[in-house]
Amino acid sequence: MGEEDGTCARIAAVTVPHQWRPPRESVVDRFLRYVRIDTQSREGSATVPSTPGQWDLARLLAHELGTLGVEGVRVSDTCMVYARIPGNVATHGPVVGFIAHVDTSPAVTGANVRPIVHRNYQGGDIMLPADPTQVIVAARHPVLRDLVGDDIITTDGTTLLGSDDKSGVAAIMTMIDVLRENPEIPHGPIAIGFTSDEEIGIGINTFDVAEFGASVAYTVDGDTLGEINHETWSARLATIAFHGVSTHPGTAKGLMVNAAYALGDFLTRMPADLRPESTEGRVGFVHPYAGAIDVETSTLRVILRDFDVGGPSGLDAKEDLIRRLASETEARCPGVTVTVDVIEQYRNMNEVLKDHPTLVEFALEAARRAGLNGTTTPIRGGTDGSKLTFRGLPCPNIFTGGHNFHSKLEFNSRRGLEKTTETLVHLVTLFAEG
Ligand SMILES: [Zn+2]
Repeated sequence: MGEEDGTCARIAAVTVPHQWRPPRESVVDRFLRYVRIDTQSREGSATVPSTPGQWDLARLLAHELGTLGVEGVRVSDTCMVYARIPGNVATHGPVVGFIAHVDTSPAVTGANVRPIVHRNYQGGDIMLPADPTQVIVAARHPVLRDLVGDDIITTDGTTLLGSDDKSGVAAIMTMIDVLRENPEIPHGPIAIGFTSDEEIGIGINTFDVAEFGASVAYTVDGDTLGEINHETWSARLATIAFHGVSTHPGTAKGLMVNAAYALGDFLTRMPADLRPESTEGRVGFVHPYAGAIDVETSTLRVILRDFDVGGPSGLDAKEDLIRRLASETEARCPGVTVTVDVIEQYRNMNEVLKDHPTLVEFALEAARRAGLNGTTTPIRGGTDGSKLTFRGLPCPNIFTGGHNFHSKLEFNSRRGLEKTTETLVHLVTLFAEG
């Protein structure tokens, strides 16, 4: 980027961080309160949101935004919290949005979370006291080396922590607290969105981008400090149905066609090198994760993931593979018919974000001003931002400092939460400077 470029010149101008007055409530205390609220979402629920606990946190956040002086806070009928903070300086910059989700993963219980603060961590494994089988092993978590002297926050080993994404929620709330306590910090207009049912992939469909009112946004839902995600998977879901013929097994000879064996045939021919357990980095995968066997009709659900759609190993090629294996199974299993139904789940947001480089540059610079090494990393998953980006709201993802999401070994730290908050404050000042 050239010398004349406004962004670079502006970024270079400010290097000394502000000495801010502290927020009224520390980000750690706020986080410890939020994780105690059970907001686990549930697949297949008939209600919106999928679980009632999400209302508890959404309504609490709306109330607390009010006590932080934010006016016009609204909780929608689908449990989305919307709020807007006016700018305190004249700026031609955009309305910048910050989004985090209130729900936690269906994978591990979120009821009766008892957070533990391991003060002044001195290295080594971390035992979770209520379940001796749950140990955060230092050798498997190199990031722990960076956390010596920090206060690490875990659970007692019986639940997830909910750092995903109450770290993001707490950091955004604390950013607002800091801005209120330090009115000299310049910022433009800010939009806040707390979303429900992110973990089951459907909540964001009811998020009202127009009401939110931002023209650019960030989800605060990542992990390692300093890592900005501007790439997600492109994602499809294949539902494969194997249709056979059911009869009474006592008189089945020559008549029954058991669809379960066709499903088994299909499954055993899935290539081992395309599985999540054998891929990493930029290599995508094909993953059968749920299904049901029955003589008449057996079904299998397979997720397809890759950063690319085209090319020899992209998503299209993976879908072709699934369809080819399905027709081969049909040929190998006389009397069985196989149908394949594929839907798109979300797309790699970099297809859009590559045209908005400033968003990532500002996030990296904000991380640098917070004393972190800002880097970009593709995320082997999706975020609410993957969908929002394609609905006209470009939306990269910012770290939270959390690790081991969707697990009883989930953890974050004081520094993780504080540096995430600090980065968000620097980020709004960067947009105000713009
Ligand atoms: Zn999350």
